[in-house]
Amino acid sequence: MRTILVVGGGYAGFYTAWKLEKKLRRGEARVIVVDPRPYMTYQPFLPEVLAGSVEERHAAVSLRRHLRRTTVIAGRVTAIDHAHKTATVRPAAGPAFSVGYDIVVVTAGAVTRQLAIPGVAEHAIGMKHVEEAVAIRDRLLTAFDQASALEPGPLRRRLLTVTFVGGGFSGVEGFGELLSLATALQKSYPELSPDELNFHLVEARDRILPEVSDRPGRWVVRSLEKRGARVHLNAELISARNGHVVLSTGAEFDSELIVWTVGNAANPMVRSHTDLPIDQNGMLVVRADLRVGIGTGPGAAPVPDAWGAGDDAAVPDLAAKRSGAATVPNAQNAVRQGKLLARNIVATLRGRKPKPYVHHSLGTIATLGIGRGIFQYRGLVIKGFPAWLMHRGYHVLAVPTWERKIRVLAVWCTAALFGRDIVSLASVQHPRAAFLADSELTAAA
Ligand SMILES: Cc1cc2nc3c(=O)[nH]c(=O)nc-3n(C[C@H](O)[C@H](O)[C@H](O)COP(=O)(O)OP(=O)(O)OC[C@H]3O[C@@H](n4cnc5c(N)ncnc54)[C@H](O)[C@@H]3O)c2cc1C
Repeated sequence: MRTILVVGGGYAGFYTAWKLEKKLRRGEARVIVVDPRPYMTYQPFLPEVLAGSVEERHAAVSLRRHLRRTTVIAGRVTAIDHAHKTATVRPAAGPAFSVGYDIVVVTAGAVTRQLAIPGVAEHAIGMKHVEEAVAIRDRLLTAFDQASALEPGPLRRRLLTVTFVGGGFSGVEGFGELLSLATALQKSYPELSPDELNFHLVEARDRILPEVSDRPGRWVVRSLEKRGARVHLNAELISARNGHVVLSTGAEFDSELIVWTVGNAANPMVRSHTDLPIDQNGMLVVRADLRVGIGTGPGAAPVPDAWGAGDDAAVPDLAAKRSGAATVPNAQNAVRQGKLLARNIVATLRGRKPKPYVHHSLGTIATLGIGRGIFQYRGLVIKGFPAWLMHRGYHVLAVPTWERKIRVLAVWCTAALFGRDIVSLASVQHPRAAFLADSELTAAA
């Protein structure tokens, strides 16, 4: 029986394995998914995890629960040697080992782009993973608790100052959602005055949300500013040393919470540790049928038994007017590429021709906090509450499995009745602290 190895169980990898389970005949092939995380992260829910509107566990789709006929290996692929059809896997504990395969599917996604700006590595938090979203929420909630016990002054101002660096899709969604949480929190913290809250969004270009056109982009800036936020356009972060933010525009302020949302970089394993073709940006070179290709363009020959999709692959965009364009790295494409990839593997196993990937964008939809959103499909723009409802409707339908949909819906309904939970559980990072403090007191008594 053939072995299909899927490297990375995120959007593209999860859907590939899920579809393969449905399409493969008994005994036709076995599927292995390797991922250091035991779940696929539903990243579009992370902004709502930040705001406490979606429970963090509900944004994590268990691989073992939903891929019942797939072997799931908890580990990181550190190298792919396609010439010998082996991958090296480093598990969280124990020594590295090799996994042999007949067909490899590379869906390891991208990583957060790093820039060598002083203080960023020490102070900032990314927003690509569940633990980051939870930490951001807890830090804001903890900051409110701490600030409420202080007299007005620089420390209190620093605690109540939040900075997002990067005004792309995830940055703007996270910013809008966290602002919505902070505004709601003020009711529970009468000691703090609304004008003590400082939310800064820093963007190097002259506009935010490049996925929408200029006018709706400007509307988003105005609507965030009406809610008390400050949007710094044409501004680069120069330093964040010790939480002191310095911008290229000359603006300076102390910020307790700095969130880094400047976009993606190529996955280092894909870029540097495989013998598969990689382009100048470190992306896997993929043909329109999602087979890894030797060179680009319609005449590119396929690398036998190697496939790729999602944020780690440069997939030709056949729906684009511009020739040579690659598909946008988003979930809309990753899901559809994963499903087609599975169908194409099954087709080639059965001697049929694989089909090319063609997808026309369904538009862009973003949440900007509870009751606020923006949607654009070509010339059609919908703003505010209807767009937010569409955002929720779209994502509750899009999150995989009915079990997840129902859990998320239940939390939304409960929050509509009782509001969201506003307790910081930052103490889970130090579970022995209370126990140790109690022991010290007992010893001293
Ligand atoms: C906050 C946020 C909000 C977003 N909202 C939207 C949205 O509303 N709409 C939209 O279309 N898109 C959205 N996106 C983008 C979308 O989530 C990504 O484009 C999509 O997840 C890409 O899928 P992927 O499978 O390529 O990568 P991922 O989903 O990132 O999965 C990659 C997987 O590979 C694993 N992996 C990495 N390296 C290795 C390795 N060496 N070995 C084994 N496994 C590895 C990772 O652990 C991960 O599970 C959002 C992204 C973010 C961060």
